[in-house]
Amino acid sequence: MPQLRKDPIVSRWVIISTERARRPASYIDPTSYNTDPKTCTFCNDKTSTEVLTYERVRVVKSGNPFFTTAQELTLRNQGLHQSCHSHGSHEVVIECPEHIANMADLPVSQIKSVFKTYALRMWHHHNDESIKYVLAYKNYGVAAGSRNIGHARSQIMAIPVLPARVLDKIHGAKLYFDFHERSLFLDLVRQELKDGSRVIIESENFVAFSPFAARFPFEVWVMPKPKRQYYDYVHGIEGLETELAGVMKELLLKYKIGLNDPAYNYVIQSAPFGSAQQEAYCWHIEVLPRLTRTAGFERGTGFYINPIPPEMSAKFLREVKV
Ligand SMILES: [Zn+2]
Repeated sequence: MPQLRKDPIVSRWVIISTERARRPASYIDPTSYNTDPKTCTFCNDKTSTEVLTYERVRVVKSGNPFFTTAQELTLRNQGLHQSCHSHGSHEVVIECPEHIANMADLPVSQIKSVFKTYALRMWHHHNDESIKYVLAYKNYGVAAGSRNIGHARSQIMAIPVLPARVLDKIHGAKLYFDFHERSLFLDLVRQELKDGSRVIIESENFVAFSPFAARFPFEVWVMPKPKRQYYDYVHGIEGLETELAGVMKELLLKYKIGLNDPAYNYVIQSAPFGSAQQEAYCWHIEVLPRLTRTAGFERGTGFYINPIPPEMSAKFLREVKV
């Protein structure tokens, strides 16, 4: 019998449909990519505008940006409609000089530099009052929205409005805090650690677990343990960069080995700078392999149908040796 489960942060329901479950190992979506550095855009890039180089990680302006500072931010009202120029910044983080496609194959020291680079760019953009949010994220593989370039990279968007998804999470965290006078994220991590059935990796300060109401097979959230919880990513990872890189490498290697190198996205869910009630929220990373497609039901309801219970996803990933 399928089960409905509710996400405690955004109150979104998902359907865990075990009837449709296949064995985890049968989810195979190999990622193909360009293996020739001679034809790689980023190995041969001489023209991009560089904004930062940090320990072999290069940040450049996107050649095809969604957000630019070409115009000042001005809101326009047309009756009940509102619009503005897409004021902001769209940057590409080239994660290593070598032609390596998957972050899983980079050394921990290089992954550490990538995660530190996100923090440096977030902190840079926080000085601009017209920027309301900075999202660092990765698309790996064509099924995850990436082009077939084959060079490890991620993106940073500094945008002039707060995304609805961030607002939903902050709203859910605030409601919980107002009622319980405790952080929802603190309670969530404590419960996951105590239960253990959805935990995949545990380090001194982090836990990687598949959430109770996971939308997708093998969806994983990486979150700091209670003693190191902090509302924003920039301050939250200070001193923990190498440990976080180690957890991410282990998780991405488990995907690569156990799921045959699937496409995936990850997104860093930090609170906006200057958030009120900071103790209610905690930054975290959502890691989302792209193994299933959404259809009409998801689009019509906002529900997701996940054919693998997160406990099964977690057990499978725990047992993948890296
Ligand atoms: Zn390359």
